[in-house]
Amino acid sequence: MDELHYDVAVIGAGPAGMTAAMYAARALKRTALFEAKLPGGELLNTELIEDYPGFESITGAELAQRMADHSLRFGAELLPRRVTAIVPRADGGHRVEVEDGPPYTADAVIITAGGEPRKLGVVGEQEYAGRGVSYCAICDGAFFRGEHLAVVGGGDAALEEAAFLTRYARQVTIIHRRDQFRAQPLLIERARANPKIDFVMNQVVESVVGDGQRVSGVSLRQVHTQVSSELSVGGVFVFVGFLPNTQLVVGHVDHDAQGYYRTDEQMRTSVPGIFAAGDVRAQLTRQITTAVGDATTAAVAATKYVEEEQAPQAAAG
Ligand code: NAP
Repeated sequence: MDELHYDVAVIGAGPAGMTAAMYAARALKRTALFEAKLPGGELLNTELIEDYPGFESITGAELAQRMADHSLRFGAELLPRRVTAIVPRADGGHRVEVEDGPPYTADAVIITAGGEPRKLGVVGEQEYAGRGVSYCAICDGAFFRGEHLAVVGGGDAALEEAAFLTRYARQVTIIHRRDQFRAQPLLIERARANPKIDFVMNQVVESVVGDGQRVSGVSLRQVHTQVSSELSVGGVFVFVGFLPNTQLVVGHVDHDAQGYYRTDEQMRTSVPGIFAAGDVRAQLTRQITTAVGDATTAAVAATKYVEEEQAPQAAAG
């Protein structure tokens, strides 16, 4: 047996990847789950999860651990390697290139590589990253005890993480570019009821300012009047969406305007043998429930694909 060849390679061990690996291994396919960091994906950046059925309230870290244990129980191998490229091959045997090692091959590849937080792209953001600018409340919130913080964004992440940050911060100001939030009504209601949260609507961040060492505030512009103002804060948490990790495949894969892979109902991308699930995939919503559901479909479809690909070879051999 070629040690570096797998029936199914799953790229990224977030909820989608862990689910896909579990299903592929349960179907008795030799399955590799590639993950450069700890298994868990975005779960590890989420404090509390309250919308995964069966778990009324569970920490992201605990759900990640449980999913990781469960996903490997049926024989999938967790490979702690960073995938640098996926080179599709028409005859199967897609090549999975990794940092610091020889390439692997797999008959089917399921891409569950998630994404990275989107940046604001304003002056000062990069300069003060890690010195007051953060993209992860769980990772950095505790460094801001007693401070006044800014949270930028109007989606689920912004509203949820702002509430989390009130544990440490004296005050959290949510800055949003419109007068309507994109977030779920329940999260908006909770934020409005939180005495430590206030709102600055219809304003965009023009720059992050500081004293050269640390953030001291943000400069804002009102989108209708164009009037500029400054808000003094000790930290800026940016939650303005997600950029999917969809750069790995060498060659064109059909995607939408934001770069998310378009798939059919079997989670097949436009490249035969390459499937996608979770946050890399174009879809209405990005929840843990949708990620694990789509990953189930992807694993079942990939298994079927592998069996169909391998059948002629077995007959010939
Ligand atoms: P999102 O839903 O895409 O929201 C991004 C927010 O950032 C939007 O309010 C957007 O404003 C704003 N924004 C984007 N670019 C901006 C810019 N350059 N300057 C200022 N504001 C900007 O992203 P998300 O909140 O990270 O969530 C990502 C996905 O994960 C969503 O599908 C979400 O449902 C899911 N999620 C779910 C939960 C949960 O269920 N508890 C928690 C976290 C995330 P506009 O509204 O004006 O476009």
